Amino acid sequence: MSTQAKDAEKLMIQLRDVNKWYGDFHVLKNINLNVKRGERIVICGPSGSGKSTMIRSINRLEEHQKGDIIVNDVTLTNDLKNIETIRKDVGMVFQHFNLFPHLTVLENCCLAPIWVKKVPRAEAEATAMQFLERVKIPEQAKKYPGQLSGGQQQRVAIARSLCMNPDVMLFDEPTSALDPEMIKEVLDVMVELAEEGMTMLCVTHEMGFAKTVADRVIFMDAGQIIEENEPHEFFNNPQHERTQLFLSQIL
Ligand code: ADP
Ligand code: MG
Repeated sequence: MSTQAKDAEKLMIQLRDVNKWYGDFHVLKNINLNVKRGERIVICGPSGSGKSTMIRSINRLEEHQKGDIIVNDVTLTNDLKNIETIRKDVGMVFQHFNLFPHLTVLENCCLAPIWVKKVPRAEAEATAMQFLERVKIPEQAKKYPGQLSGGQQQRVAIARSLCMNPDVMLFDEPTSALDPEMIKEVLDVMVELAEEGMTMLCVTHEMGFAKTVADRVIFMDAGQIIEENEPHEFFNNPQHERTQLFLSQIL
């Protein structure tokens, strides 16, 4: 097999029988999921179904209690070294941007490369400017997050993640806090990223996005993966009653 073919076969993320409880509440129930390098996965499902918990567990923003999560061949354990290793490989974009308000856009982008990856400042700034160009806001580099629109802030958040050169990007409802006219500018950036071959897991209800870029759509309900399929089948021929009900409510 060629190196390229092997790379494509490589599993970026594996969740094996993952279970998590918040106190007595069983929030993730036997989650099994394999994500190959370059694969783009959209996760949808009703509010409270465990989507954020699942995606946050992948870089240990939440701790699971049972089962295995393996990212890039590293198994998530309580070992801080493993957590740090995984976080270097995994970028995350949140619903509410989570930028540092007291730092400029450029400083937001350079912070982790400088302090976590020990990249020299000049190099970190040059890389940050490249990514700000890619998300089409280089002219905002010296501003503070509070001076930007929501759509611009979310594009900074994406650029900031990319500055760490992640192997996989996790998105948790990146457009749901945005005014409608700003959704497209963020989705456009995400579509470009997908087309460049980034491995992506996106929690989103933007079904147009799912149809355009997803290799697979996963439907979660009550802490379980109920159904998964390639987008055409998923939308046109949902098998499970709960999937049908969900799609009838959002489409
Ligand atoms: P989704 O992202 O699909 O809306 P979440 O993963 O945020 O779902 O939440 C799943 C369930 O877990 C919800 O019922 C939520 O109330 C509960 N939950 C989320 N975070 C916590 C927490 N820190 N402590 C207790 N319960 C939580
Ligand atoms: Mg959520």
